[in-house]
Amino acid sequence: MNDSIQTDPAALWVVATPIGNLGDMSPRALDVLQQVKVVAAEDTRTSRRLFAERPAPEMISLHEHNESAQLDRLIERLSAGDSVALISDAGTPLVSDPGYRLVAAAHGAGIPVRTVPGPCAAIAALSVAGLPSDRFHFEGFLPARAGQRRTRLDNLADMDVTLIFYAPARDLPEILGDMSAAFGEDRLATLARELTKWHETVRRARLAELAGWVGSDPDQQRGEAVVVVAGNAAPGGPVRPRALLRELARELPPSRAAKVLARLTGMSRREAWALVEQNDS
Ligand code: SAM
Repeated sequence: MNDSIQTDPAALWVVATPIGNLGDMSPRALDVLQQVKVVAAEDTRTSRRLFAERPAPEMISLHEHNESAQLDRLIERLSAGDSVALISDAGTPLVSDPGYRLVAAAHGAGIPVRTVPGPCAAIAALSVAGLPSDRFHFEGFLPARAGQRRTRLDNLADMDVTLIFYAPARDLPEILGDMSAAFGEDRLATLARELTKWHETVRRARLAELAGWVGSDPDQQRGEAVVVVAGNAAPGGPVRPRALLRELARELPPSRAAKVLARLTGMSRREAWALVEQNDS
């Protein structure tokens, strides 16, 4: 290794690992993981496979639910001169993964924080999406509850930069349907599923087409996915019915809200009422 960690003072190394294909493990990442005293890993059993036949270092589990509790222990080790590597189950730590508090605490304690960059599903998807990539917004996971998810999507509908979402593929039919409603059926998007794995799929199409395709093919609902959506080419365009309805529903009883919505948008009373019911769900 060019950059020997043995000569460094104790440091917290933030190390990216593969998002599926173990061949993407970089020699430098392996080197660092073998030289540090402690590896903080989300799931220590999952991470042992990175070492294959080689001896695995001491591992401490650090996940969403114990990060605060493990912090002091890891900062103590770092302060005592031990170097520590932080890895997650897949990809780059801190990207929709734990680690932020540990990194902040290391900075706070004056401990050097170093990076071993590598795979990240969001960036891998963006690089194959065929959508503008000079500016983008990483949204990560959407809320699981339908109402909250739709509100979040409505709030993103006017952004004029490419949007990146994480999703378990089993949720894609609902998510793509909601995106289609919030962003418009014709908005271009790319579904990047099972990247670097055997069933890697990358498909770029209009949102309504993607939603129909995924909905009719259960194989597309397996594994892990990133959805990359083109930004709004004409932000500040006509008011979207659902955003309008949310405002109306704050001020009016449901039947009045449906009536006013129908009048303002030109949709039928029946369509407006269906939206009101969805808004309540
Ligand atoms: N830290 C990781 C990274 O750098 O991408 C992300 C961790 S997040 C908990 C897991 C999500 O990342 C999955 O639900 C999926 O949205 C996305 N993801 C991870 N691996 C993927 C892959 N091989 N193909 C597509 N999406 C993937």
